[in-house]
Amino acid sequence: MVLPLTYFGNPILRHKGDPVSEITPELEQFIEDMFDTMEKHRGIGLASQQVGRAIQLTVIDIRPVEDRPSTLELDGEEADPHSIMPLVLLNPEIEPLAAEVSGPEGCLSFPEIYGDVSRPEKIRVKALNERNEPVEFVCGGLLARCVQHETDHLHGILFTDRMDRDTKAELRDELDVLQKATKAILAEAAEADSDQ
Ligand code: ZN
Repeated sequence: MVLPLTYFGNPILRHKGDPVSEITPELEQFIEDMFDTMEKHRGIGLASQQVGRAIQLTVIDIRPVEDRPSTLELDGEEADPHSIMPLVLLNPEIEPLAAEVSGPEGCLSFPEIYGDVSRPEKIRVKALNERNEPVEFVCGGLLARCVQHETDHLHGILFTDRMDRDTKAELRDELDVLQKATKAILAEAAEADSDQ
């Protein structure tokens, strides 16, 4: 089932997620719904906050993007990044392993808004998977960028927070319009609720 997305201006996007401690049937269904939602909107990553729930769960699938390479190391051996797709990460932790590089990013919670963000080019990721098993890998390129973007979401951090001042200034008007529109829709919904 495709879930409604939350947009910039919705306070849920600023909530740090609670760690996930148990995989329930309900959570398994939620993970499936997150994949449906991400695919429908042609995203390569989606965090639980973006569908209205503040827990530390993200889904990732970089396979639709062919022109931005990724690297992967499993147990110190080079591996095909596609071999771990689609990826479910619970409670991910990141260790930077290389200097920051700047690259373009977008976000399903910011439709049509894109900007460059600097992030470590290579990272080590430790997390739990959808079977509650520990996973660990080293990744670079697009996958590293995506995991960092999504892990930020799980802590209430948005890609605009990491843009430099000039990039953010260029996007200021678009961000203001989106934030106001989101708040207006939420206020309308709250009013409709209180009328019932
Ligand atoms: Zn995002």
